[in-house]
Amino acid sequence: MTNSELADSLDSNSFYIEGADIADTKAPKVPIERRWEERRFGARLVNPANRRKLNVIIVGSGLAGASAAATLGEAGYNIACFCYQDSPRRAHSIAAQGGINAAKNYRNDGDSVYRLFYDTVKGGDFRARESNVYRLAELSVQIIDQCVAQGVPFAREYGGLLDNRSFGGVQVSRTFYARGQTGQQLLLGAYQALERQIAAGTVEMHTRHEMLELIAVDGRARGVVIRDMVTGAIETYLADAVVLATGGYSNVFFLSTNAKGCNVTATWRAYRKGAYFANPCFTQIHPTCIPVSGDYQSKLTLMSESLRNDGRIWVPKSGEDKRDPRQIPEEDRDYYLERLYPSFGNLVPRDIASRAAKNVCDEGRGVGPGALGVYLDFADAIARLGRATVEAKYGNLFQMYAQITGEDPYETPMRIYPAVHYTMGGLWVDYDLQASIPGLYVTGEANFSDHGANRLGASALMQGLADGYFVLPNTINDYLADGPFPAVDASHPAVVEAVEVVRTRINKLLSVNGSRTVDSFHRELGRLMWDFCGMERSEEGLRKALTRIRELRKEFWSDVRVLGANEELNQALERAGRVADFLELGELMCIDALVRRESCGGHFRVESQTPDGEALRDDEEFSYVSAWEFGGNNGRPILHKEPLVYEYVEMKQRSYK
Ligand SMILES: Cc1cc2nc3c(=O)[nH]c(=O)nc-3n(C[C@H](O)[C@H](O)[C@H](O)COP(=O)(O)OP(=O)(O)OC[C@H]3O[C@@H](n4cnc5c(N)ncnc54)[C@H](O)[C@@H]3O)c2cc1C
Repeated sequence: MTNSELADSLDSNSFYIEGADIADTKAPKVPIERRWEERRFGARLVNPANRRKLNVIIVGSGLAGASAAATLGEAGYNIACFCYQDSPRRAHSIAAQGGINAAKNYRNDGDSVYRLFYDTVKGGDFRARESNVYRLAELSVQIIDQCVAQGVPFAREYGGLLDNRSFGGVQVSRTFYARGQTGQQLLLGAYQALERQIAAGTVEMHTRHEMLELIAVDGRARGVVIRDMVTGAIETYLADAVVLATGGYSNVFFLSTNAKGCNVTATWRAYRKGAYFANPCFTQIHPTCIPVSGDYQSKLTLMSESLRNDGRIWVPKSGEDKRDPRQIPEEDRDYYLERLYPSFGNLVPRDIASRAAKNVCDEGRGVGPGALGVYLDFADAIARLGRATVEAKYGNLFQMYAQITGEDPYETPMRIYPAVHYTMGGLWVDYDLQASIPGLYVTGEANFSDHGANRLGASALMQGLADGYFVLPNTINDYLADGPFPAVDASHPAVVEAVEVVRTRINKLLSVNGSRTVDSFHRELGRLMWDFCGMERSEEGLRKALTRIRELRKEFWSDVRVLGANEELNQALERAGRVADFLELGELMCIDALVRRESCGGHFRVESQTPDGEALRDDEEFSYVSAWEFGGNNGRPILHKEPLVYEYVEMKQRSYK
């Protein structure tokens, strides 16, 4: 049966409606290396005196939001910036450990803008837009200069040059890092720039304020409804344009490496207002996380990919071998990545490493509790480099591992297992980073942009900062050049309606007074997503998940128990709103996964495999971005396809052998 025949037999229309194709119209049709320059030149400018008359809302002050707010503030626009933490410094970006890519070629090892572009398109399994990825590679070089100028303390070599290391999926060293705390140092740089603008009066910062609704007037994004998380006050903020830099939605899985607060509410509310949500089922499973240790765990911890530069991954050759790993001799170990992928070895991309770990565990060769783990061993590196060198490179990560597991990774191999880590899906944006609602821009992990079906390590920080420092400040002008737009105030029907939606929802959440906690719903949803929409997916499993998620959503609205009131600091209420949105998102993710009947990136569709069980991509049917339009509360979502065209990188089955 061909894929189209299979798709017909699915009666997929019961889940979604097929809409018209869409396309990005902003990338100029010139050779790829001239596109960004051409677009920058073609985008209209706003003269400095007029910028003072224009207001921009930026929701999010992680790397993507803080860099955008600082840059647009410096340019002279009036910025109102929001985050739900008590300080921009606590954005989830601070957790990023391993590094940030840039095609500087400091190592003279054959790197170039073109190679970074090529690696990223290939790493994303040919599901990203070429124009965007090329621009990202071009801008990577400027990001490092910008951050160095801000004083970000990147690691340096003896001679004073910035040091580099390698991340998965590449054969050059292009990852810049600050020990295992790269995100923290980059965020401090962006935060300083933001604070400078706050002091200069161009940015008004609102911490502990959560966006709960987007306001659209005459088809344009014009504001947001915000809940003051300390007092519960529901406030409206209006502007000429709105930027969402609100991060990813990995926490739909309940257990993930993301900060507990990360959520989908801002982008989901925009989706419900008409912004398309792209590739929601593209999530990244990171191969090196500390394995789950019990049923009551609420968070997973990443062990940075940088560890794969020196650590070697293995399992015992026999599942019966229960010896202490240090007692297992070389001949009884299977360094399976080095065996299967000799040219990339332990540095294969994340999707390949994750699937390989799952396979050896499925074969019964996993280690540790529940046999869901593989070893990441530093014995060779310590013997070769000495403990002091290993400590200097990875000390804080080793410390974190020891604190969480009670085991000393200098003495005994770490145990690791794949976990949900990043979401490539997000709001659909064009080359200008504008969503399908005019005046709504989306940056950082919140948009779907550059990573296709699998993000390469150290590319998220690069993208968030490229978006915030360089792309958005050059493209949003083109829209704002038509402003200021007609004034809107709180009495406008669209504003009144948006506020009403927020109030009704809060009241409803507080009035159900049922018997189940918010967390119990979230945990059950997460388990469904991991089992059926995680690394391995099948039609049968996805259908099962869809049925149960729909039931779960009904049960949520009739049986959830949210204590306390709105007019106070109420974390149960905050979580309830976020989980309600995750329940809707989970359904869209499963529909998206059901439609995408191919194995792609980290996602193995059992219906799409080679005779020897390897993942099989289907370029003929699925070489597109799926952009979903909200179909109404009781309607079906509408699928718009953006066909992907590869003019520069030849599409082929990936090989890291
Ligand atoms: C443990 C870990 C390690 C990582 N290491 C690396 C690495 O080494 N290299 C790399 O490239 N990438 C790494 N990543 C990925 C990278 O850290 C993230 O993709 C990136 O930092 C996201 O930045 P962001 O600005 O888009 O979002 P975030 O940093 O998540 O910021 C989101 C902002 O939006 C705000 N917000 C969200 N919703 C709302 C709302 N409704 N109302 C108001 N405010 C809201 C938040 O308060 C916050 O300010 C790592 C990720 C994890 C989990």
